[in-house]
Amino acid sequence: MTQTTDHNLALFERAKRVIPGGVNSPVRAFKAVGGTPRFVQRAQGAYFWDANGQRYIDYIGSWGPMILGHGHPAVVKAVQDAVLEGFSFGAPTEREVELVEEILRLVPSMDMVRLVSSGTEAAMSAIRLARGATGRSKLIKFEGCYHGHADALLVKAGSGLATFGNATSAGVPPEVVQHTIVLEYNNIEQLEQAFALHGKELACLMIEPIAGNMNFVRASVPFVKRCRELCTQYGALLVFDEVMNGFRVALGSAQSVYARALPGFEPDMTVMGKVIGGGMPLAAFGAKRAVMEQLAPLGGVYQAGTLSGNPVATACGLATLREISKPGFFEDLSRKTRLLVDGLKGAAAAEGVSFSADSEGGMFGFFLLPELPQNYPQVMKTDGKRFNQLFHGLLDGGVYIAPALYEAGFVSAAHSDEDIASTVAIARVVFKSL
Ligand SMILES: *Cc1c(COP(=O)(O)O)cnc(C)c1O
Repeated sequence: MTQTTDHNLALFERAKRVIPGGVNSPVRAFKAVGGTPRFVQRAQGAYFWDANGQRYIDYIGSWGPMILGHGHPAVVKAVQDAVLEGFSFGAPTEREVELVEEILRLVPSMDMVRLVSSGTEAAMSAIRLARGATGRSKLIKFEGCYHGHADALLVKAGSGLATFGNATSAGVPPEVVQHTIVLEYNNIEQLEQAFALHGKELACLMIEPIAGNMNFVRASVPFVKRCRELCTQYGALLVFDEVMNGFRVALGSAQSVYARALPGFEPDMTVMGKVIGGGMPLAAFGAKRAVMEQLAPLGGVYQAGTLSGNPVATACGLATLREISKPGFFEDLSRKTRLLVDGLKGAAAAEGVSFSADSEGGMFGFFLLPELPQNYPQVMKTDGKRFNQLFHGLLDGGVYIAPALYEAGFVSAAHSDEDIASTVAIARVVFKSL
């Protein structure tokens, strides 16, 4: 760095005095990779600029929401117009109805949707609703899947199948996670055993269909098929957490990707966030009418929110969904994402680096491993030191990927073929140095 003052470092020091760890969400702190987090000054299209004025090609895109790139003119206009009409009313607006109608048109497995403000809130509410609707308490989740930080979901596997999970956070009492069963992702045998033991007490099974919180791991088609069959057989709700996948991997979301292999496939409940807010705090959960009508004010399952369906957030989300619904949008986004993934694979092969990568729509993941992992323990076989070298090499070259090896990456419509070509060229230099 040629500057005498590192403004990122100065800001980080200042932030650390008043915000725990200097950040408002832990992974931003660069704890896993070391070094100083970049404080973003502004962003446009595929790029952002940090406090030193350094430009980066952005492959995080706010962890997924910025599918159109930063500052898309149609979205900016919609937000500006909405702001002038008022920020928040605590009373219903037409735009909430419009946004939900649009979501239902694109994801027909749901009949009704409730809007909330974060993915955490949506997943937490979905579980309460699943419990209320079934009158059961237990739930299944999978190791390596993240569903936000509600108490019941911050759980890792216990010592055996017959036991329940252990909280992964201090401050979560064991009694609160006693109903959460944590299983290995893509392990059909374990799934069948868990249903045999607990199936009749299960309210729901929650899964990230293409897990993006352990980098990028697809649930196999036979695994999803078995999840669907067992949930149906035992009367548990199959909940797809599409907070990351929704409107990111396909216009019909991950459930449409699985329905291609499993005709007629539908989850019972869907949780959404990220892209549906276009970068504003907005998330949602939805299901069939009979389930959704259990929610207050119609039913006995309480759920509420002062800022739910916020008029500025709904304007942003609606404008984003309209842009991604345009003909050819996902074809082009998928092509560019594949271009990146294939380019990185080629560059790694040319430099003799063990590497695997995968993508769906505008979401991708890569591993310093010869084969794509199928579950969390396999993801964690990645050499963390080598990943950190790769991360810092790319960062120094002006390419911003997630500062942790267990996070997915995102391409936006604003990334040009040239951006991708220069990313691959920078990556090749870094691969050579590994
Ligand atoms: C991001 C994410 C969440 C949590 O959403 P927040 O808006 O960060 O609370 C939940 N589930 C999945 C799959 C996510 O990727």
